[in-house]
Amino acid sequence: MLRDIRCGKCNRLLARAAGVNQLQIKCSRCRTMNQVTATDRYQSLIVAGEKSSQA
Ligand SMILES: [Zn+2]
Repeated sequence: MLRDIRCGKCNRLLARAAGVNQLQIKCSRCRTMNQVTATDRYQSLIVAGEKSSQA
């Protein structure tokens, strides 16, 4: 079953995945790096420590 992977920050649809345990995907809109972990449902977590380009 495909599940939507959405950005944890801006909620943009990033991908659809099935059977993935873990992935990292960068949002093309807000450039947030999301780490997605499959539990009961996919959880999109913003990866802390990712350097912002807004320096
Ligand atoms: Zn985003």
